[in-house]
Amino acid sequence: MTPDRFAAARRRMVQAVARAVPGCPDRVLEALVRVPRHRFVDEALWPRAYRDEALPIGHGQTISKPSTVARMTAALGPGPGERILEVGTGSGYQAAVLALLAGAVFTVERIPALAVRARTRLDRLGIRNVEIRPGDGRIGWPEQAPFDAVLVTAAAARVPRSLFEQVRPGGRLVAPVGEGEDQRIVCWLHAGGEWELQELDPCRFVPLREGMGGR
Ligand code: SAH
Repeated sequence: MTPDRFAAARRRMVQAVARAVPGCPDRVLEALVRVPRHRFVDEALWPRAYRDEALPIGHGQTISKPSTVARMTAALGPGPGERILEVGTGSGYQAAVLALLAGAVFTVERIPALAVRARTRLDRLGIRNVEIRPGDGRIGWPEQAPFDAVLVTAAAARVPRSLFEQVRPGGRLVAPVGEGEDQRIVCWLHAGGEWELQELDPCRFVPLREGMGGR
C-alpha cells in the first residue's frame, strides 16, 4: 500500500498498540502499519483514525479499537495460505488486516449497505483476497468451509454451533463472549476432537444479531 499523510501517525498508533498488547507478534503489528485505518471511516473522522478507540461506521455499528483488533488477530494466529472466516465485516478493516496475514478471507455482514462499502474500500486499496457476503453470519459460510480459523467480531452469550462446525481439526475460533459491559475475548483451539478454551481480555463489541439488517 502506498505511503500517505497519516503514515507517521499510524506508526505511533502501532507503538501504542504494542505497549497495550504485550507479546503481540511482529507480523500482526506490521500488518497494522500497512493498513490505512483512516480509509475505513468517513473523512470527517480521519483525524481520530489513529487513536486507540472505536469509531462509528454508520447503522449503529463501530470499527473496533486497534488494540482489540491486534488482540483478536494475535489470538487467531492467521498463517500464510490459511482460509479465514470473519463474522461481522463492518468497515472491512479487520478483514484487510487478516488479508495481509492469511491466504483468503471470507467475511459475512448482515447489513448490506456496510458490506457494499467495505467491498469498495478493499477494492480501492487493491486488497483482492477477501470475499464479502451479505447475510446472517451466525450460520457461517458452509460452501467455503472448513476454515483454518473463524473470527467473530460481534458479541453473543453463546457462539453459534454452526461456526464451530466449520473449523477444521487443529483450527481456532476467536469471539467476544458475553453481553453489554460484561464481555471477554475467548479463544478455542480444535485439538484432537476436543475444544480447548482460553479466556483473554475484557472487550466491548456490538451484539451479534439474528437475520439480515436494514437497508
Ligand atoms: N470487524 C469490523 C467491526 C465489527 S462491528 C471492522 O473491522 O470494522 C460488528 C459487525 O457485525 C457490524 O457491522 C454488525 O452489523 C455485524 N453483525 C452483527 N450480527 C451479525 C450477523 N449475525 N451476521 C453478520 N454480521 C453481523
